[in-house]
Amino acid sequence: MDLKTQELINKGEMLPLMEEFYTIQGEGAHTGTAAYFIRIGGCDVGCHWCDVKESWDANLHPPTHTDIIVENAKKYAETVVITGGEPLMWDLNYITAQLQNNNIKTHIETSGAYDFSGKWDWFCLSPKKTKLPLERAYQEADELKMIIHNKSDFQFAEEQAAKVGDKCNLFLQPEWSKKEKMTPMIIDYVMKHPKWRISLQTHKYLNIP
Ligand code: SF4
Repeated sequence: MDLKTQELINKGEMLPLMEEFYTIQGEGAHTGTAAYFIRIGGCDVGCHWCDVKESWDANLHPPTHTDIIVENAKKYAETVVITGGEPLMWDLNYITAQLQNNNIKTHIETSGAYDFSGKWDWFCLSPKKTKLPLERAYQEADELKMIIHNKSDFQFAEEQAAKVGDKCNLFLQPEWSKKEKMTPMIIDYVMKHPKWRISLQTHKYLNIP
């Protein structure tokens, strides 16, 4: 990569774009609402059940001018969801400023394991055991989305819920490959612990991206 590109990436004026698409948010508090998704490459959190492993190597995703990404988003949506990969590996101050200047709401989905950047209308924190969130991410979280892959994840979910603010929305979401086994356990758990809500990957049931 040439020096100029690296410099623009460091400033967040270019980002390794994996894909961008207009769809329906399938998960969590904004389920069912239209949003433009911007998926940025790069992640070393290493969840073994990750369903976007092709995002992990940032070098596979072309550095793209952030202004072009914002122009594309403007054609479609009032809300943008920035996801990954792990989007906080990159400086997101520039892209969120540009989006908000265009009256677009900025949402993020992140493991919280990297330094905070950006200005967010909605901060969805999804902590992973392999690389825990930094303190700031807990403070910022509007939504805590815990992926339940096995029984021990309920305990992990409670530990993480103890770290977020009182107003944070709490969600338990079955990991897709284990949904037949874990969904009934989550239903039971939420009825016993009603501070939690169930999140399903409804976009996968709807067969949309
Ligand atoms: S943090 Fe997200 S993108 Fe990274 S490995 Fe885990 S599930 Fe995959």
